[in-house]
Amino acid sequence: KGKLYICPTPIGNLEDITLRALRILKEVDSIAAEDTRHTLKLLRHYEIQKPLTSYHEHNETTKSQHLMDKLLRGETIALVSDAGMPGISDPGELLIKKCIKAGIAVEVLPGASAAILALVASGLDTKHFSFEGFLHRDKKKKKERLEKIKGEDRTLVFYEAPHRIKETLKVMIELLGNRKAVVARELTKKYEEFIRGSLQEIHQHFQENPPKGEMVLLCEGISPQEEEDRKKEAFEAITIKEHIL
Ligand code: SAM
Repeated sequence: KGKLYICPTPIGNLEDITLRALRILKEVDSIAAEDTRHTLKLLRHYEIQKPLTSYHEHNETTKSQHLMDKLLRGETIALVSDAGMPGISDPGELLIKKCIKAGIAVEVLPGASAAILALVASGLDTKHFSFEGFLHRDKKKKKERLEKIKGEDRTLVFYEAPHRIKETLKVMIELLGNRKAVVARELTKKYEEFIRGSLQEIHQHFQENPPKGEMVLLCEGISPQEEEDRKKEAFEAITIKEHIL
């Protein structure tokens, strides 16, 4: 049987790839990439020549079967995404599940992931955190998710696109309250920047400086005081209801 290697790639700075990842990319029979043109640039930079095949969210189901056939024939494949760790808000999960089910070895290599970099640099609580990935672009679904996690006491980590960040911040202020937050922009790149403050202050910042680039949005979990207040509110609501009845 073959083997599937999950190969993280840089999230901006081309130097952020491990020696082992480079060796595996050189040794495997082929590479499955989210965007083959994007990956070609990385491979060219490191003078790696390898057959490339595309594997992205739109062909994940059909392509994973094709990749499984290759793996079952004994081939080795490295899976890469455009940036960071495959399987984290990127294709990978489905193929990994299938391999585990079929008894095909999966080896994950360590490497860059924007969420972890942003969390460590944020200055927020790193002991407990909840990775939320992308919120739904539909406002109603976005609100539903935030409603569900508003009582979470772990640091919340989101991926967000620059053209949606202001709306997301507004919805968060409305549903979570004006919590302490950080936006980590353009990590590992030339214009890396951390915007720290309350959700409202960060929203104000983006009113004055139009959001650009790739970003991770983090905010603190519910505080013990807030939790206490919410419980009291809920209790009072029940008591009032009982009183009326
Ligand atoms: N698999 C990737 C990882 O492990 O980080 C994430 C892929 S996801 C499709 C892309 C999102 O990750 C971006 O929209 C942004 O939220 C975040 N991201 C990726 N690179 C980043 C960077 N250099 N700086 C800040 N955020 C980044």
